[in-house]
Amino acid sequence: MKSQNIAIAGAGIGGLTAALALERLGHRITLFESANEIKALGVGINVLPHAVAVLSELGLGEALAACAVETEALVFANKFGQTIYRDLRGIAGGYATPQYSIHRGALHTALLDAARARANVQLRPGSRLTRYESNDHGCNVSFSRSDGTLTTDSFDLFIAADGIHSAARAQRYPNEGPPKWNGMMMWRGTTLAKPFMGARTMVQAGNKYAKFVVYPIEKPRDDGLQLINWIADIRVADGIGGVLTAPSRESWSTPGRVEDLLPTFGSWRFDWLDVPSLITQATQIFEWPMVDRDPLPQWQDGNMTLLGDAAHPMYPIGSNGATQAILDARALADSLEQHANLRDALAAYEAVRRPMTAEIVRMNRQEGLDIILDMVHEASPSGFERLQDVIDPAEIDAVVQRYKRAAGHQPTKVT
Ligand SMILES: Cc1cc2nc3c(=O)[nH]c(=O)nc-3n(C[C@H](O)[C@H](O)[C@H](O)COP(=O)(O)OP(=O)(O)OC[C@H]3O[C@@H](n4cnc5c(N)ncnc54)[C@H](O)[C@@H]3O)c2cc1C
Repeated sequence: MKSQNIAIAGAGIGGLTAALALERLGHRITLFESANEIKALGVGINVLPHAVAVLSELGLGEALAACAVETEALVFANKFGQTIYRDLRGIAGGYATPQYSIHRGALHTALLDAARARANVQLRPGSRLTRYESNDHGCNVSFSRSDGTLTTDSFDLFIAADGIHSAARAQRYPNEGPPKWNGMMMWRGTTLAKPFMGARTMVQAGNKYAKFVVYPIEKPRDDGLQLINWIADIRVADGIGGVLTAPSRESWSTPGRVEDLLPTFGSWRFDWLDVPSLITQATQIFEWPMVDRDPLPQWQDGNMTLLGDAAHPMYPIGSNGATQAILDARALADSLEQHANLRDALAAYEAVRRPMTAEIVRMNRQEGLDIILDMVHEASPSGFERLQDVIDPAEIDAVVQRYKRAAGHQPTKVT
């Protein structure tokens, strides 16, 4: 397709990746972001190998390798720290590219630096999307500026990558309402602590009532400590399947309190990790309800389409939030390259990505891979001597393989 004039709303992980992928094909990109200053925010995030491959193709390989932890294994454990399943990840798991555990801010900064270096990417911070209007020639897009002014410009294509509270999605689906909550609260923190399990392992311990997810997001320092990211999940209401409205609007900067966590996790002292001390020594804790949205019947609206969390917000289970946004960006760029007509390209992008991401949303509502924690919890709530005495390991393996197939991350797919 010939060079297009493209607007993207949202300079998050998905919007920035789309800008890089589309600019590389010769398109001109204007990237609008509501924040006045684009800052390195958040805590830990995981990027699966097939998304790392996309970022490497876009020239970020070295920058990511320098600051991320190359994840070697994902371990599932019960609330006593006993291993249930160990899944090798990234290169160790036979993939052609690594899986990375990384500070979201570091990933965001790497993407932002790359975008700033591209001649045909213009960044417009302090621009909040208010409306779009698709017509026969393209799409008019309106933004309110931080100085109070309103601007409207015309583009060939408009991509809304404006996150879980997408203004474009709300315009297209005005009756959708707030995100859906499953009754789980998540507290996310980072702590400098001694490395565990070889300094490159991600662990999910517990069950659907209380779960502790923990992984390092920086390489070990000279003093032997490592920045460890953790997420403590507690079920505070019964909303399994996502039927509740969250108690508060989620924000990545709502502070969390240690006192809310210790009654549940105070006794979780494993021989490889001291959970209460990780919690009490955290440098920062944020609180966040586990929310998602129902899959949509359509993303495209004329010359507008949705991407990333705007299109398919999902529970942060299975390391798919950032990964799927990155894969959207790649699929959209591929579609634009393969089709001469813009609307055909948007339809082709959606035909590939919408069913796949909808399936992940649905699988995550049923706990995703974490369902194996519940299977073992139900079979042996007080722990076990030998795992095979309480559950058939082949049953666990079958669940893992099914989820991985649905999320598209079998080793053979990464070339
Ligand atoms: C500040 C922040 C911190 C996060 N921290 C973590 C974390 O620690 N761990 C984790 O797993 N996930 C985190 N996430 C979520 C994670 O980044 C996403 O789930 C995933 O990467 C998908 O990316 P996305 O680009 O679709 O959405 P996001 O990364 O959420 O990006 C959306 C972008 O759109 C901007 N935006 C919103 N509304 C408008 C508007 N009307 N007009 C213009 N721009 C708009 C937002 O400011 C944001 O920059 C965080 C998201 C944000 C915004």
